[in-house]
Amino acid sequence: MKDITIVGGGPAGSLCGERLASHGFNVTIFDERLAWEKPCGGGLTHKAIEAYPFLLESSQPKKIVRTAELISGSGHRARFDMSHPIVIYARKVLNGLLLDRAVAAGCNTICSHVTSVDTDGPRVRLTAGGEVCHSDFVVVAAGARNRLLPNTTALTAGDLELTLGYFVPTEEDIIKVKFLKEFEGYLWSFPRADHLSVGICSKMGQSPTQQLRRHLDDFVAEEKIPMNGAKFYSHVLPSPQAQTIRGRRIAGKNWAMAGDAAACVDPITGEGLYYALRSGDLLAQALIEGQLQSYPECLRAAFSADLEFAASIARKLFRGTFLGGAITTRMVQLLRWSPTFRDLIRDVFSGSQDYRTLKRRLFSQFGTTLLELMRTFFGSGGPLRAACSKRSGSLL
Ligand SMILES: Cc1cc2nc3c(=O)[nH]c(=O)nc-3n(C[C@H](O)[C@H](O)[C@H](O)COP(=O)(O)OP(=O)(O)OC[C@H]3O[C@@H](n4cnc5c(N)ncnc54)[C@H](O)[C@@H]3O)c2cc1C
Repeated sequence: MKDITIVGGGPAGSLCGERLASHGFNVTIFDERLAWEKPCGGGLTHKAIEAYPFLLESSQPKKIVRTAELISGSGHRARFDMSHPIVIYARKVLNGLLLDRAVAAGCNTICSHVTSVDTDGPRVRLTAGGEVCHSDFVVVAAGARNRLLPNTTALTAGDLELTLGYFVPTEEDIIKVKFLKEFEGYLWSFPRADHLSVGICSKMGQSPTQQLRRHLDDFVAEEKIPMNGAKFYSHVLPSPQAQTIRGRRIAGKNWAMAGDAAACVDPITGEGLYYALRSGDLLAQALIEGQLQSYPECLRAAFSADLEFAASIARKLFRGTFLGGAITTRMVQLLRWSPTFRDLIRDVFSGSQDYRTLKRRLFSQFGTTLLELMRTFFGSGGPLRAACSKRSGSLL
């Protein structure tokens, strides 16, 4: 296998191409837009920076954000410093950086729309811009909604999220995330080098678009975001169900998928950049070693078993209750009241805490969290102590 075509020059396709070209493969990347401003938050968590340090070291404009604020559906707020900063790029800049690296490694890039891919013959046959090209292998990294490989199962509405948002030309230094009551998704505000990406994501088909738009506009008003020159966007994002992560075929004899196309996205947070890069990287590694069959297993070991677990708890997290209130509200309250819980959320947010060990960590620190909670409430200055002293004329 020598000639490889990649459909999609986003993070998954570019990194895959860069790795393959630097190992001597002839790689051609097709992208209908090459570097473009894909609707996206553009936030890279610690695990992405740790695996790909050039993302922090590059001289391209980016925003390094250390503080986040969570807002509950009932309006409670908690601000905290993350254990590792989140690095935020405009997507045109990030895609350009990754494509430049791919070209420097030897990839050929073609700005063209791929209309069909045929993997049935002895060689892959791909049509782009009316021209036919042949290769030994095709990587489909063309995002969530492509139908280029007819023999694979397309992602259904249950595996997708709808996102709406604005790019706003204003400055900000903190990330904000707001939950809504009985709503599977959230609102966000992500500051970039010279603008803000504000948006809302929700499971596809669960809320009408007008309602999402209303929530978004209310959020913008509540946070007093100046909207002069704001540009509206809308896009789909994979939010895979557990069975999709477990059962969907992502590779065949002369084809494989990576990134959003392979549904490599965190179903709770919508984080996809790290998983796109990592899946492109792991796919390249499998091809370099001539072990394509190991790719799905490598993906599973690296992160997809964790994402499967996340998918199994996502609904409960967004819609469930704990001690008579929404889990997301309790989460925001605990963040304010318990330093131990705050440490956990700081790690979750910055991407250094996976989901499977999160459960164990939550249980192991339950006692301490409870103690801290009681101290907050009954300690000097705590709300219950103050209320009691008021009522009993300072007996406590
Ligand atoms: C609103 C929104 C906010 C997000 N925020 C974040 C965030 O803050 N952090 C995070 O980690 N993730 C975030 N994500 C997810 C992230 O954007 C994706 O997971 C990531 O871009 C996936 O990379 P990819 O390379 O797989 O696909 P993409 O980035 O979608 O790249 C696919 C490429 O394929 C090209 N293409 C598609 N079809 C064809 C065709 N037929 N012919 C030629 N070219 C084609 C497209 O032009 C595109 O460049 C967000 C997503 C959305 C929608």
